[in-house]
Amino acid sequence: MGYNIAIDGPAGAGKSTIAKLVAKKKGYIYVDTGAMYRGLAIHFLKKGISADDVAAIEAACDDADVTIGYENGMQQVYLNGENITALLRNEDVGTMASRTSGIPKVRATLMDLQQTMARTKDVVMDGRDIGTVVLPNADVKVYLTASVECRAKRRYLELQEKGVECNLEEIAKDIEERDYRDMHRETSPLRQAEDAVLVDSSDMTIEEVADAIIELCK
Ligand code: C5P
Repeated sequence: MGYNIAIDGPAGAGKSTIAKLVAKKKGYIYVDTGAMYRGLAIHFLKKGISADDVAAIEAACDDADVTIGYENGMQQVYLNGENITALLRNEDVGTMASRTSGIPKVRATLMDLQQTMARTKDVVMDGRDIGTVVLPNADVKVYLTASVECRAKRRYLELQEKGVECNLEEIAKDIEERDYRDMHRETSPLRQAEDAVLVDSSDMTIEEVADAIIELCK
């Protein structure tokens, strides 16, 4: 059994940045489960399936093989053998992932892969249901959050840096919609596990948050 650190929280709370840093400092593997949902979303988009067509989404899960690999320590996602990592952060992919992640078959398809990785390796795994459903016995559980305003501003600055034109109010609205979908779905809704430590990163630096999590491992 590996040592397992589970980090859950809403969109834009800084989970992946923090999880990556904690993994680096501890020499563990970083597992980005959101990227797996995004990988399946690319499969649905390629097939031209609507997010509302649950039967078609469920059927499409049967011919999607999402796997994870590492190149220079960076997680790579493969869909039926093709490396699709470069496509994962596209806006339409994020929206499709958010709209299909509540479908039980979608979650079941990815859960096995996530649990197998945690069983065999020391991991920092981030997502929405890691501490509650995927790894209920994780050694350390963190619920990482930040205010909507703060998360929207971070995303806005990130997009601006990439030269992408964007609007702060629209980003905040999109974040609120994603929060709502993640928190109100029937299967594995986003919530803080009873034994998770709440960390609000609104007024903390990346280093401070990472150090606070590493402290919990002692
Ligand atoms: O974290 P990220 O934005 O990459 O995740 C994409 C989508 O996948 C989220 O909007 C969320 O709905 C879903 N997700 C999930 N459970 C996880 C990780 C991500 O439902 N463990």
